[in-house]
Amino acid sequence: MDLHALTIGKARELLSQSKISSVELTRALLDRIDLYDDRIGAFITVDKEAALAQALAADEQIAKGNQTPFTGIPIALKDLLCTRGVKTTCASKILGNFVPQYDATVVAKLKKENAVLIGKTNLDEFAMGSSTENSAFKITRNPWNEDHVPGGSSGGSAAAVAAQFCCGSLGTDTGGSIRQPASHCGVVGLKPTYGRVSRFGLVSYASSLDQIGPITRDVRDAAMMMNLICGNDPKDSTSAKVDVPDFTGALNQFEANSLKGMKAGVPKEYLGVEGIDPEVSAMFDRAKKVLESLGVEIVEISLPHTQYVVAAYYIIAPCEASSNLARFDGVRYGVRDSEPDDLIEMYKKTKSQGFGPEVQRRIIIGTYALSAGYYDAYYGRASQVRTLIMEDFSKAFEQCDFILSPVAPTPAFKIGENTGDPLTMYLSDIFTLSANMAGIPGISVPAGFSAKGLPMGIQMMGKHFDEISLLRAGFGFERALDLKTDFPVL
Ligand code: GLN
Repeated sequence: MDLHALTIGKARELLSQSKISSVELTRALLDRIDLYDDRIGAFITVDKEAALAQALAADEQIAKGNQTPFTGIPIALKDLLCTRGVKTTCASKILGNFVPQYDATVVAKLKKENAVLIGKTNLDEFAMGSSTENSAFKITRNPWNEDHVPGGSSGGSAAAVAAQFCCGSLGTDTGGSIRQPASHCGVVGLKPTYGRVSRFGLVSYASSLDQIGPITRDVRDAAMMMNLICGNDPKDSTSAKVDVPDFTGALNQFEANSLKGMKAGVPKEYLGVEGIDPEVSAMFDRAKKVLESLGVEIVEISLPHTQYVVAAYYIIAPCEASSNLARFDGVRYGVRDSEPDDLIEMYKKTKSQGFGPEVQRRIIIGTYALSAGYYDAYYGRASQVRTLIMEDFSKAFEQCDFILSPVAPTPAFKIGENTGDPLTMYLSDIFTLSANMAGIPGISVPAGFSAKGLPMGIQMMGKHFDEISLLRAGFGFERALDLKTDFPVL
C-alpha cells in the first residue's frame, strides 16, 4: 500500500483500525518530500522533528482511544496562516524572519484534534498572483508537468496534495487562489462562503474577499475538512453566526442518490469569454453531459455584469491590500532595512527591499485609487459594480441550485509565459473572481486532462452558505466521471 497516496478518509479508517500508525504515514510523506520537493518546490518550511513528534503524540492518543477525524492526519498549511513558533513568511522577504506568537484559529482547530502539521507551503507573495511565480523564495512547479505552473496563489498547497506530500492542505482564496491551483493540479479545492471560516491569524490580503478553505484529493475529504474548520469565532468579528451543518453526514445521505432534481445554471456570458482554450471548452461540454446523465438539468442563465468583474476586482483587491500592507513598515514586523535614523528613509528602504514587484504594483494601484479625488471614480465605482455583480447572482439563483463553469480559461500555462504581462495574468482569473465579489461558495473538481496531460477542473458556485449542494454535486460528478486521479509518478 502506498501510504502517501491515502486520502484523509482512507487514512482515518486505517488509523482507527490500527492498520497504520501516524508515525508511519508521516514518515512516508516526509520521505517523499525529501526525495521530490527539490523539484516541485511546494514547501517553504518543513520541520520534520516537530511533525514526527506530533505524529507520535497522535498515535498515543489513538492508543488511548481518543481520536477525532483529524487525529494523526498530516496536513500542509499555506504560509499565510500564522503558526505559533513556526516561521510564517507569506512568501515575502519582509516577513522572512517572522515567527508568530499565536496560531490562526484553523491551525488551533487542527492542533486540538492532534493533526500533524507537516509544513508551510509556498504561495504568491501575500497571495497576490495566479501562478506561485511571485514568491520571494522559489517557484513551485506543477507535479503533472514540471515546465508548467501549479496555479496560484495557493500553488504550494495544491502541488503538495497532488505530489502526495500530505493528505490534504489549507489554502486561501481572495479571487480564485484555492480553486484555480486545485484545477491546475488535478485536486479538489473549496472556497467556502464569506464568513463561514474564521480568518483569525490569516495574514490579510483583501479583507472583504479573503477566505480559507480546503484542498484535498477528493470531495469527501473536502467535506471532512469543512466539518473541522467552519464556525463562528469570537476572535473574528466577520465570521458568521450561522449553524454549521454536518458536511460529511450530508454526503453520506446522498451517497445512494442521483442528482435528480438539481438545476445547474450555465452563464451565457461565460461562453463568450475571449481566449478560452478549445480543450477547456471540450472538457466543459463533457462535464455538462456527465451531470445530465446524473439527472441534473442544465439551464442557461445570465450574469450580465461579467465583463466588469476583472476590472472591479483589480481595483477593490489592491485598494484593500494597500491598506492592509501598510502595517509592514519595518517597525512592527519582520525585516527592517537600514537603521531608523531617518524614519521616512527607513520606511522607503524597507518597503522597496522587502516587497516584490507584484506587491509593490498592487500597493501603488491601491494607494492611487484610494487617494482624495480618485476614491469616487475608482473604489466607489468598483464597489457599485460589485453590488451589481451580487445582484446578478441573486437573480441567477432563482433559476438554479448552482452555477457551472470552467475554473480557468486554459490549462496551467508554462512557467514564465505570463510573468511579463500582468494584465493577461489578471484576465485568466475571469471565472473565479465573481464568487469572492459576491461572497458565495465555489468548488473546483477535476474534470479531465489536456492532450499534454495537464489537469482541468470545473467550478460550481452556490448560494450563500449552501456548500452542501456543491459538495453533493461535486461528489456525484467525481464518482460518475471516475477520472484516473492516480497522481503523477514523480
Ligand atoms: N489572482 C488573484 C489575485 O492575484 C487572486 C489571488 C487570490 O485569490 N489570493 O488577486
